[in-house]
Order: sequence, then C-alpha cells, then structure tokens
Amino acid sequence: MTRRRMINALASAGEFGDYEDAAVLPADTDPQVYLSRNRLPQPFHLLCEKDTVLSALSGSAYVHLRDSSVLRFRMEIGDHVYVPAGTPHRIVPVEEGVTLRYLSRNPGRHGAAWYCAACDAEVHRYEWQHDNDTPPVQQYVAACARFTSDEAARTCPKCATVHPGIDLAAYNWPAPATV
Ligand SMILES: [Zn+2]
Repeated sequence: MTRRRMINALASAGEFGDYEDAAVLPADTDPQVYLSRNRLPQPFHLLCEKDTVLSALSGSAYVHLRDSSVLRFRMEIGDHVYVPAGTPHRIVPVEEGVTLRYLSRNPGRHGAAWYCAACDAEVHRYEWQHDNDTPPVQQYVAACARFTSDEAARTCPKCATVHPGIDLAAYNWPAPATV
C-alpha cells in the first residue's frame, strides 16, 4: 500500500458510513483493503470464508468473536485483530473511528448472523458470494432488511425469543435494493 493512497483513505474517511467496507485499493490488489467509519455497533456478526484482519486507524472498538478461544479484543489505534476463517465477529465501537479490513482478493463466501440474547443460540444467518464489483455494504443492508422484515427469521429456533429488527435508518447506508 502506498503512503499516498493511505493518506487519501484517511482524508476521505469521513465520507464513509458505518461498516461500509469500501474498497480503497485498485481492484487487482491482494489483499484488498476495505474502509469503514464506525459509530454504531455492527448490527450483525460477519462471517468470512477466509481469514480477515481488522485494524483501527482511529478511535477504538471492541471486536466480539464467537467460536473462538478469545471472545473479545479491545482494538486501539494501530492494533491489528486477526479473525480466523469462518469466525463470526462483530465490531462495537467505544468511540467513533476508522477501521480497515484486509481481505483476500478472492474472499469467497460471506455471511451475516444473529444470536439470541436470551439463550445465545444462532437465530438466523444469510450468506452470499463476495463480489468485487458489489460494494459489501449492499450485501449488509440487504441481509439486515431481510432479517428485519421476516419475523420467522428473527424467532430463535431454540427458545422462541424474537430478536428485534434493525433500525436501518440509524446507519448511513444506501436503501436496500430488494427486501
Ligand atoms: Zn434463544
């Protein structure tokens, strides 16, 4: 990564929304770097088929992991958090900050999952094939919109607690293409 590109990424970081994961390097760069400016808790756990690394350019956050020997990292400026392939993880900002995500140029399938606040079981997940031509945030907003509009999907299969929908208006996201 060239210094100039990183400075450009920092300078324009204010334009990015929560968990936007906007690609900031040329399309053939491997690994690709994705940039978000996070203010609110990530409204789902993300699953990546391949390893991913998170890094804080500013601010600080907790990274919550599942199915992992370490369940929570505190991420400060300059820290890198390695997330093994397939590990559900969720960013919860302590203070607003810019987060980088490193992903393979061919990262495979991704998914969004929700877990029950009452019994901790997985409530639901949606998966999709990562497509370098589709901004990841479009997949996130589609998954969140589907989840929010489907009460059966939000009902815990183990204890029947209904998971609340997601207030999509609170996130600086594009409108969902399909619900
Ligand atoms: Zn439950």
